[in-house]
Amino acid sequence: MISMPSPKAENPTLEYSPSSRAKCRICKKNIEKGAIRLGTPYVFRKDGEEIFSFRWHHLDCSMGKDPQSIVKALKFSKSLRKEDRLRIQEELEDRGLIEGVSKPIKIGKLSPNLNRINVVAKVTHIFPSRQDLLLSFRRIQPIYLKDDTGEVKLVLDESLSKNTNISPGDTLEISNVKVLNPYDNVVELFADEKTIIKAL
Ligand SMILES: [Zn+2]
Repeated sequence: MISMPSPKAENPTLEYSPSSRAKCRICKKNIEKGAIRLGTPYVFRKDGEEIFSFRWHHLDCSMGKDPQSIVKALKFSKSLRKEDRLRIQEELEDRGLIEGVSKPIKIGKLSPNLNRINVVAKVTHIFPSRQDLLLSFRRIQPIYLKDDTGEVKLVLDESLSKNTNISPGDTLEISNVKVLNPYDNVVELFADEKTIIKAL
């Protein structure tokens, strides 16, 4: 007997519903076109052949009934928009189902100089032209960037810039960093003596 590998079909998936035809297996109502749906794989036999297919569910219905499948699907679903992915991650985190990411902070809600936050970010550029070391970040957590072109810059206090060895490509865990201007397109963070920078 030959078993066909179907790696794609073996994992649950999250996607935008391409039509309004599929019914949710939990509430029995149609899943509207464009809504995020969870697909859980199952196997049936047709003419002696094993065929993989999906059972579809509203995201919200699954959150209550089968959140573990959402946790798993999130790892394999590449098509979700960043903001949807973050929203789902946040909800799973609120339910205690995933760990490791701190609660995301919307940068617009922060006040300049008053807030200190913890971030994990990848260093993309270093500008050594100023006395301060200036870094530019992409894919920063737990901050929501305003859009994909948004950047977060990290300015190091003079004493830190002499003692910190940072290279492009490094992933840094930065604790207790000050938010300088949360309203500009480029968010600036300031690391001083209270800030702890750790390479991951
Ligand atoms: Zn439903």
